[in-house]
Amino acid sequence: MIMRNSERVKVKNLLESGTVGAEVAAMGWVRTKRGNKSITFIALNDGSTINSIQVVFDMAVFSEDQLKNVATGACIAVRGKLVESPGSGQRVEIQASYLEVLGEADSATYPLQKKGHSMEFLREIAHLRPRTNTFGAVLRIRHALAFAIHKYFNDRGFIYLHTPIITGSDAEGAGAMFRVTTLDPNNLPRTPEGKIDWSEDFFGKEAKLTVSGQLEAELGAMALSEVYTFGPTFRAENSNTPRHLAEFWMIEPEMAFYDIQDNMDLAEDFLKYLIRYVLTSCADDLEFLKKMYDDELVSRLQLVVDNKFERLTYTRAVEILEKANQKWEFPVFWGADLQSEHERYLVEKHFSKPVILTDYPKEIKAFYMKQNDDGKTVRAMDVLFPKIGEIIGGSQREENYQKLLSRITELGVPEKDVWWYLDTRKFGTAPHSGFGLGFERLVLFVTGMSNIRDVIPFPRTPKNCEF
Ligand code: ATP
Ligand code: MN
Repeated sequence: MIMRNSERVKVKNLLESGTVGAEVAAMGWVRTKRGNKSITFIALNDGSTINSIQVVFDMAVFSEDQLKNVATGACIAVRGKLVESPGSGQRVEIQASYLEVLGEADSATYPLQKKGHSMEFLREIAHLRPRTNTFGAVLRIRHALAFAIHKYFNDRGFIYLHTPIITGSDAEGAGAMFRVTTLDPNNLPRTPEGKIDWSEDFFGKEAKLTVSGQLEAELGAMALSEVYTFGPTFRAENSNTPRHLAEFWMIEPEMAFYDIQDNMDLAEDFLKYLIRYVLTSCADDLEFLKKMYDDELVSRLQLVVDNKFERLTYTRAVEILEKANQKWEFPVFWGADLQSEHERYLVEKHFSKPVILTDYPKEIKAFYMKQNDDGKTVRAMDVLFPKIGEIIGGSQREENYQKLLSRITELGVPEKDVWWYLDTRKFGTAPHSGFGLGFERLVLFVTGMSNIRDVIPFPRTPKNCEF
């Protein structure tokens, strides 16, 4: 009888808790095949775990013809008896009695025939790379983190707010934006002055893809107290770095009544919770990544969980960096935007633990950050991590209408773009704070991968939009 999904058991469940002696069924993709005239061994993986289950074919029962087209990459369904595995490394294996080939894979052309491909090559076959052990592990960890993020906030009464992806305001200033339009580039409507007439466009005005959901999240916090966003954001920055994507996911909690201390406490507790969650629920995948790529992976995660983050001002950090016996690619002075070499020095060399820097010069931070009494700095907080540098950027927000307005005017942000944002400071304003966590930076840190393109299923970077 043709096998159906209802009788299938996931490989993870078979390996961990399948009853020895039971008749079982499994489906999945062939990782390896080996054997001789009398016996064939197939490693079968269905993505439920890093581990494959060994399926043993007695060649007295199966014909060579039946197994001929079962090569690496093929998809099969098997039935058989779950027996104790004589081999080391696995508790049980399947003694096959039935085989169905769901999909062949031609061994002459299947790109993942051999192990040990480079990350660069795998990026070129992003449609198949989830079949590798590495991407399976990364994608399961990515999923676990996404789930833990929702769980963390839900358990604490935060409301998940869906902020728009298409936005009519480019006030955030977090980076270059992608345009959204339905106008025909070969036949653009013009104003009498010869400029493009955006009033003819779909939204009747210029529209872009969002760089951040923060401003809208603040509107939510001013009614629901504690909200968070978790959605895609887009930056048309032409930066070909291992830490930047053109499309990435961001988590942005925004909380009424929180000052910057509360904000830092939340950010630290949140990050530790997420890392602890992965340490306990993705142990096999972490162990694999540690073994294959990064011997210090688990100890680095443990370092974050076990240590109180060091908190200090930007000014103090600049003093430390100026005194450091270190050659910088970018010079350090008060007022300079810190680069990842500086951030990593503080974290990895000076303090040997995560660091939170506060009170940055207002010139290098966004208009909405709360101004300190010194007239020079704002209540910003950046969380810096080993290997990554900035993983979170946040602040207490300016809740005073006049101060916010004067900052907006100073920076030349058109009031017509942010009138709705200013309104919250006119009607029932409240002290409030929030931060943005780049999801892929977090996955990068937790998996120990070295390029952000390898922690998202389909990376979008300059000149790369194939899959
Ligand atoms: P960076 O200086 O690294 O470019 P940023 O100052 O532009 O970061 P924010 O605008 O504060 O970053 O965004 C919040 C968070 O989003 C950052 O802390 C980081 O984790 C993440 N992030 C920012 N830009 C990108 C990007 N292009 N790709 C992936 N993650 C990003
Ligand atoms: Mn940036």
